[in-house]
Amino acid sequence: MTPEFDAVVVGCGPAGNTAAYHLAAGGARVLILERETMPRDKVCGGGLSAKTLHEVPFPLAPVLEREVSTALIACGGAEPVPCTLDGLGGMARRSALDAYMAEQAVSAGAELRQGRAFVRYERAGALVRVTTDGGPITTRVVVGADGAASRVRAQLVPDADVRAVPAIEALLWPAAGVLDLAGSRCVFDLGVVPGGYGWIFPKADHLNVGLYRFRKRRDNLDLRGALDAFIARYRILRGHERLTVKARMIPVRPVARSLARDGVVLVGDAAGLADALFGEGIYAAVRSGRLAASAILDHLGGGAPLAAYDRMLRPMRADLAAGRVAARLLYLAPRAGFRLAVRNARVTRLFAGMIAGTVSARRALGTLLALAPYWLLAPRTPAVESPLVG
Ligand SMILES: Cc1cc2nc3c(=O)[nH]c(=O)nc-3n(C[C@H](O)[C@H](O)[C@H](O)COP(=O)(O)OP(=O)(O)OC[C@H]3O[C@@H](n4cnc5c(N)ncnc54)[C@H](O)[C@@H]3O)c2cc1C
Repeated sequence: MTPEFDAVVVGCGPAGNTAAYHLAAGGARVLILERETMPRDKVCGGGLSAKTLHEVPFPLAPVLEREVSTALIACGGAEPVPCTLDGLGGMARRSALDAYMAEQAVSAGAELRQGRAFVRYERAGALVRVTTDGGPITTRVVVGADGAASRVRAQLVPDADVRAVPAIEALLWPAAGVLDLAGSRCVFDLGVVPGGYGWIFPKADHLNVGLYRFRKRRDNLDLRGALDAFIARYRILRGHERLTVKARMIPVRPVARSLARDGVVLVGDAAGLADALFGEGIYAAVRSGRLAASAILDHLGGGAPLAAYDRMLRPMRADLAAGRVAARLLYLAPRAGFRLAVRNARVTRLFAGMIAGTVSARRALGTLLALAPYWLLAPRTPAVESPLVG
């Protein structure tokens, strides 16, 4: 029996859209199933590192609301240290970004069915039968790109040990003039939440402000209260006209050793591939989407095992593991991390390289640990005056 599709991609986020784009461009018959109708909102800072912009297979200029060249890294609304990024990053709204990426996948030849949810799959010989809330579909491969609460993952890895950490964001429409002040800068603050950091990402007409908390302590911290305190601490965030707040989990550890088997491949958040140090998930989503597409095309074309995807992911998994070690160290005491690491120009160069993708997390961690005595003794970078911080 000939299946209707070579691949059914579940989820229209960066991971699913990228996989679908590469699969369709490689000649596969691809269906994207998305339970929402695009453009749909997604709780996310929408910060795109330079390495993400390079990894996406088409220019994102049409949906970039701002370019970012500098991160100001501060501690509790004080002492900002500028970190010049290696290569421009960008800011986008996820509703526009994901809808645009889906359009590109469709232009490459994928079919998009919106408002259609994946329910379950079952193997039928060499094929996979997918049950949706609109009827069954047959395919050769399923790509689980359905995010942090993935149903595909729940079926493929029922005993998955998911390590997910919370993040909360506020969309905030600031007083007149604040967005002009921001220019091409964003802010990270290591002193506003225990075990994590805060961010301020300027968009075209609003600020995305949030907290990422990697280390949970037994303190029953009220994340919403901590976000309100963060907003109260920054002059540019006070007196805003409008505010909406939402929180979600970010999965920061791969959910299984093998992420491809039985005709199913997991990518992005569904696979637990977000980076633990920054909580950045779009880069891994896009990269894993590309790698999955490559493994699937080899499988469809010449019968290569889908498990080749696991081999392709190895360097990325090693970097994610290094990122988790770095996160455990930094978020043990973020304020101390700020003093020892951020206020050291060589360490901020490493951070900038990691964000740009020019320095791997493994290399950055190795360098940091090997030269720790030197970092501790090195002179501190002076803080600058900035109207954005304080
Ligand atoms: C508060 C917060 C801020 C963040 N900020 C950033 C940031 O600035 N930069 C960054 O890189 N990362 C950030 N992240 C992480 C980032 O949002 C995720 O890692 C990224 O969205 C993962 O992409 P994905 O394609 O794997 O999944 P998603 O973007 O979650 O997409 C999954 C898609 O699957 C669909 N879906 C789900 N279930 C089904 C189903 N049963 N059937 C059909 N469709 C389904 C969903 O509707 C959705 O469209 C942030 C996360 C949070 C929570």
